[in-house]
Amino acid sequence: MSVDFTLDQKRYLEGFAAGFSARGGQKTPPAQAQPMGPDAAHFSAQDRVMAAGGKLNDQEKWKREEHPFDAWPRLVAQAKENAPPKPADNFRWRYYGLFYVAPAQDSYMCRLRIPNGALTHWQFAGLADLAENYGGGYLHVTTRANIQIREIAPKNSTNVVEVIQDLGLWSKGSGADNIRNITGTPTAGVDPQELIDTRPYARAMHHHILNDRSLYGLPRKFNIAFDGAGLIGALEDTNDIGFQAVVVNDAHGVAPGVYFRLALGGITGHKDFARDTGVIVPPDEAVELADKVLRVFIEHGDRTNRAKARLKYVLDTWGFDKFLAAVEEKLGRKLLRVGANAIAIRPRQDRAAHIGVHRQKQAGFNWIGVALPVGRFTPEQARGLAEIARQFGDGGLRLTVWQNVLITGVADEHVAESVAMIEALGLSTQASPIRAGLIACTGNSGCRFAAADTKRHAEEIAAYCETAAPIDTPINIHLTGCHHSCAQHYIGDIGLIGARVPVNDEGDTVEGYHILVGGGFADDAGIAAEFYQNVKAEEAPVMVAKILRAYRKNRANADETFVG
Ligand code: SF4
Repeated sequence: MSVDFTLDQKRYLEGFAAGFSARGGQKTPPAQAQPMGPDAAHFSAQDRVMAAGGKLNDQEKWKREEHPFDAWPRLVAQAKENAPPKPADNFRWRYYGLFYVAPAQDSYMCRLRIPNGALTHWQFAGLADLAENYGGGYLHVTTRANIQIREIAPKNSTNVVEVIQDLGLWSKGSGADNIRNITGTPTAGVDPQELIDTRPYARAMHHHILNDRSLYGLPRKFNIAFDGAGLIGALEDTNDIGFQAVVVNDAHGVAPGVYFRLALGGITGHKDFARDTGVIVPPDEAVELADKVLRVFIEHGDRTNRAKARLKYVLDTWGFDKFLAAVEEKLGRKLLRVGANAIAIRPRQDRAAHIGVHRQKQAGFNWIGVALPVGRFTPEQARGLAEIARQFGDGGLRLTVWQNVLITGVADEHVAESVAMIEALGLSTQASPIRAGLIACTGNSGCRFAAADTKRHAEEIAAYCETAAPIDTPINIHLTGCHHSCAQHYIGDIGLIGARVPVNDEGDTVEGYHILVGGGFADDAGIAAEFYQNVKAEEAPVMVAKILRAYRKNRANADETFVG
């Protein structure tokens, strides 16, 4: 073992080895000992780091000092004092879904877990009340088909966690080094072209995580998505694990039918899509397979350098063969593999199907896609949408990764009235191609990492381009405030990443962007390349309009995307 340990690291190792908590040296009573799983895996990972002479990063130290789920009583006391958290506790709060976001806002942001983005009308209305009573009076739909509530005072942090659970929802693990909200096809169960309803699998994965502490505290965050091959994409190929429903034709030794194809290692902020492993899995075994993938990652992910701590880097270092062999060892059996020629071509997505009225596979019923300007809406609008879902729909609402919401199960005879009620809320079921594909992260109005006010600038770009450079085909414009790429700027036809733009030789800067073009997803997957650097935010609308006009002038036909 290396001698290059810090004092803290030595203390953690010695404390754990002796069965003592590293925090204060108190012996952990056996009755309160945590399940063996997490610690065995995490300690072995830690041992390897130490043996290699490496140093754990701060977040890893904080996890070992005090498990965030053991910190709850202390965090509750902290909340009663309305005190902002210190960095280590800010990290622990994220295990409960709360992020203290100062200096952008002196308050918490809360992100939930909503498997497959599916909510009941009463949950949706309940979240509206929560945003009104304890938040800033607005809600955001995120790019993981999730809800964010912002501007939560420290004293209300625990109230928020409790109310979320009162609503039958959950926020645990939606931040920090955990498995994030499980996404799925937004139209699951109602989509005329889907191969499989993803909701049961997303739900099973969700509960599998929630009830197993060993699946928290990964080397870094982890994304899982199930795509049922419906009309609206789940962006599964941007996830660490992307399950893609496929039809397998008669293949040697594999029964024909619908399977999930396993794609691994997606992280578009690092310019990588999830790659096809050649592995297929019967849908009922998908959660078990994901569990084993996770456990290999937990044991072998990098816990020293957070920039290299995602699954992609284990895959890059090991190669897929070695990684899948480790998964098979944990499974205790061989994975199913079929050649690409045994898999039927998947149906194409419709890039406009998340907005407007669309026929469901159930005759006489429709989903209505409601446009939410860059994902933001008010509690009053949320309650109004919930009421439409209750009165005229099947009682459910679906969030999409395109930062909008669908009301499902609306009978033909109620469509017109539902649309009128949506419009009376100040929302719309129609959007220009520019607005339908307009995605923006939180930006500097609420995120300390942001170099620009992405949501505001997105609106300005859309308003200008709709008249200066109207477009007749689906287009995705993604604005992200920093390299964390929450709005996935690399997969936009046009992507903008926030930058401080120099304006003189004295070092003064203004908000702005680097602009990229040529990204895409699903069948048109591609990583955008930088086109303009250091564009002031006030000039971004004009520059984006120029790009749109050039695309329209030079494309071979309306089906030609920016990727080619
Ligand atoms: Fe914040 Fe960066 Fe994510 Fe935008 S991309 S929300 S600026 S962390």
